[in-house]
Amino acid sequence: MTACPHCGLVNPETAKLCDCGYDFDRGRVISESPAAKQWASDRALSKERNFFLLGFFTLVGVNLSFRLISVLAAAETQEDLLGLGVILTLFFKGIFIYLVFRLSRYLRQPLWLTILFCVLAPFSLLYLIPFVGVLIGVRNARRSLHSGA
Ligand SMILES: [Zn+2]
Repeated sequence: MTACPHCGLVNPETAKLCDCGYDFDRGRVISESPAAKQWASDRALSKERNFFLLGFFTLVGVNLSFRLISVLAAAETQEDLLGLGVILTLFFKGIFIYLVFRLSRYLRQPLWLTILFCVLAPFSLLYLIPFVGVLIGVRNARRSLHSGA
């Protein structure tokens, strides 16, 4: 058994070509192989989605801990925190719009949909629409990737 130096998949000793398109004899990935192309885009898709999810949950986490801090803070520091909270909220809304925009463009969604998602993103409850929307987009992209191959 040999582990592929490109993707780490364990291949039988007799294998000439890994599923990811790595050629053991030539010692490199053969880009012409359709398996290699699909593997690459599938992985790139997961990477983009994970980046989006990581960014989103980091924002939620920071937001929640800030709220907790303001609730626990002494009365005299409440007003300072309020000003900081407004700045932080605007900052995070900006990042969320960026994340939605980035994944939406990556998925090659129509421009009107990207704009709609970016417009909805900063609103307190409506942000769930672009959040779910782009994740469905990833799912559809992956499905068409597999059926198209
Ligand atoms: Zn491989």
